[in-house]
Amino acid sequence: MTASRSELPGPSRMDAPLPFDLPPEELRRRASAIVGEAEVALRALPGAGHAGDRLVRALEAVLLPVYDLVSHGHLILAVARDEATRESGRAAAELGDRFLNRFRIDSAVYDLLQAVPAEALPGEAVASAHRKILREMRRAGVELDAPARARALELADEIDRISNEFNANIAKLVGTFEVAGPEELAGLPEDYRKAHPPGPDGRIRITTQYPDIFPVLAFAERPEVRERALACRMMRAHPQNDEVLDRLLARRYEFARLLGHSSYAAYVVGDKMLDTPARVRAFLEQVARLARPRAEHEIAGWLARKRRDEPGAARLEPWDACIWAPEGYYDSKIRREQYSVDPKELRSYLPYGAVRDGLFALCERLFGLAITRVHPEGLWHPTVEAYDVRRGAAPIGRFYLDMVPREGKYGHAAEFDVRLGIRGVQLPQAALVCNIVDPDQPPESVRLQFEGVITLFHEFGHLLHALLSGHGEYLYNSMGFIEWDFIETPSELFEEWASDPATVRAFARDPDTGRGLPEEVLARLHDAESVGRATRLLRQVACAAISLELYDRDPSGLDVDRLFREVFDRYFPIPLPTPGHWQDSWGHLTGYSAMYYTYTWSNVLARDVLTPFLERGTLTDPEIAGRYAEKLLAPGGLRPAAALLRDYLGREHSMAAFERWLAASPTSP
Ligand SMILES: [Zn+2]
Repeated sequence: MTASRSELPGPSRMDAPLPFDLPPEELRRRASAIVGEAEVALRALPGAGHAGDRLVRALEAVLLPVYDLVSHGHLILAVARDEATRESGRAAAELGDRFLNRFRIDSAVYDLLQAVPAEALPGEAVASAHRKILREMRRAGVELDAPARARALELADEIDRISNEFNANIAKLVGTFEVAGPEELAGLPEDYRKAHPPGPDGRIRITTQYPDIFPVLAFAERPEVRERALACRMMRAHPQNDEVLDRLLARRYEFARLLGHSSYAAYVVGDKMLDTPARVRAFLEQVARLARPRAEHEIAGWLARKRRDEPGAARLEPWDACIWAPEGYYDSKIRREQYSVDPKELRSYLPYGAVRDGLFALCERLFGLAITRVHPEGLWHPTVEAYDVRRGAAPIGRFYLDMVPREGKYGHAAEFDVRLGIRGVQLPQAALVCNIVDPDQPPESVRLQFEGVITLFHEFGHLLHALLSGHGEYLYNSMGFIEWDFIETPSELFEEWASDPATVRAFARDPDTGRGLPEEVLARLHDAESVGRATRLLRQVACAAISLELYDRDPSGLDVDRLFREVFDRYFPIPLPTPGHWQDSWGHLTGYSAMYYTYTWSNVLARDVLTPFLERGTLTDPEIAGRYAEKLLAPGGLRPAAALLRDYLGREHSMAAFERWLAASPTSP
C-alpha cells in the first residue's frame, strides 16, 4: 500500500472523486489501497456499549469509499476508451465488490450491530439504516453455518464476475451489417444518409449502435434492409454470452437455494414491493389482460396499412413493428399519416444542445435548481460534459453526460452513480451514459430522434433521484436502498414530461430555419406518442415474464432459446425473428435479473404519481413538482416506497390511473 491518505476519496473530501483518467495500473493501485484501508478500519469499529448511531456511522465511513470505488470501476468499465483501462475498471469494481461481499457475511460485525438495542438508535434515519444493513447481511447469508457462509461468499464473488463478463461481451461485440448503396437507405432522413456515405466499394456499413440502427428500423422503406438490421441486432454477443448466461443462472440458483429459497426469482424479489414471484406473475397477467385486446387492435391497424404497400401481406413481420426498437416501421408511419407527426420531420426540430438545455430549464423551473456547466480536469472523453447543480446557495451535486457512442462503450442507456452522498460528508455525483448523439455529426446540432429525447429525459429522472436523495443522514438512506421495483418511477414520469406540449414547445426549434415546432404538431405529439402504447406495454410484459421465468426455476438443462420464444409468444402477437438470441445482448439479465417487471410496475406507480398534476390541469405545476421531489425523491430509501407514495398522494397507491391511461389510447388507427 503506497498511496497516502490524502490521495484517497474519503468522507472528508467534498470535491472530486477518483480522477476518471487514471492509467490502468494507477487505478488498480488505488483500488487495493482503498480496500486495504477499509479492511483495517472494519476491524477497528467501536465495540458494543457505544451508541448505535456511532457504530452505524463508523461502519458507513468504512463502506462509503468502497461503494464509491465500485461505482467508479463500473463507470470506467462502461466508458473508458481502451480495453486495458476498461479492464482496470472491472478489476477495481470486482475488488470493491469482493470486500462488500466479505463484509456482508462478517459475523463479528453482524453481532456488533445486533447487540445495539432499539433505544440506542435515536431517530428514524439511523434506525432505517441499521435495519437495512442487517437485512442486507442476512440476505447475503451471514446467519448460515461457516461452510455454507464460505460457499455463499464464493458464489457472490463469482456472480459479480460473471455479470461483468456478460456486459463486457455486449459492449465489445458490436454487430455490423452492410447495405449495397444509398438506394437501400430509401426512407431515411437526409442528415442520416449524409452521415452514412458509401465506402470505396460502394457499400454502406451500419453498426448496431442505437443512433445507427434505430433510424433504419423506423424508416428504411425496404423490408429486407430492416430485416437484415434486426437479424444482426438479435445476434449481438452470440454465441459468446450463451455459456456466460448459463453459468450466471446456475450460480444464482445455487445461491438462492443455499439461502433457503425455491429459486433466484423468489430470493431477489423477497424484499421488493411485489415480494413473491406469484405476485409478480399475477401483476403481469393483469396488465397483459388489459393491454392485449388493444394491442391486437393496434397491430391489425398496422397490418392493414402494410397491405397498402404489400397487397396480400399475411402478417406483420418482426421488422415491421416495435418488437425490439422503441419505434418500428409501421407504428412510425401511422404516427406520420394519422397524426401528421412525421418522426423524420420532427427530428429536424430536435438538435441535441437545445433539447438538453430545455431539459435543464424544465428542472430549474420545476425544482428550483440551477444547472451550470463546469470544466473539471480529467474527464474520460472530450465529448463528456460536466454540470454542477445548486438550489439557491446550497450545492446539490455534480453530474456528467456521455451521449456519443464509440467503440467499446456501454451500448444501452443508463444512469451510473459516481459517488454516493451523505449530508455534511460528501456531495452526490452521477453520470448518464447514453448513445443518442450520432458520432458522425457535430454534437450540439446533431438531430435526435424523438425516442432519443425520451431516453435522455428518462435517464435524467434517475439522475435527479440520485442527486436529490444523496443528502440523507446515512449512506443507507440514499436511492440505492429503496425497493428496486420502485426505481423506474421517477424516470417514467420524466418520459411523460418529454412529450408534454408545454415542455417540447420550449426547446423544439430547427436551427437552420429558426422555426419552432408548428403548434398543430405539438398538439398532436402527445396523441401520436400513444400510437402503439398497448403493443409496447405488451412487449414489456413479455420481456418481464421472460426475465421472471428464466430465474424462477432450476436452470440445469434449461434451453434458454426455447423458453425465451415460448414465453414471448405467449404474450406478444408478433413472432420473434428466427434465428435470434436476444438474451445474449440483454444486459438487464444481470442487474435486474428476474425484475424486468420493474419497468411495468413503476409505470403503474408513475401514472398514479401523475394524478395530482392531471387534477391541476398541467403536468408541469411547480408546486406539485416540489412536493414530488420532497416526498418521493429526497427521502431515497429512508422509508418503504409504499409509505413515500402514501405521503405524496395522501392515500394508498392504486392501478386506477394506469387503467385510465391505457383506456385513453386510441383504439383505431
Ligand atoms: Zn430507467
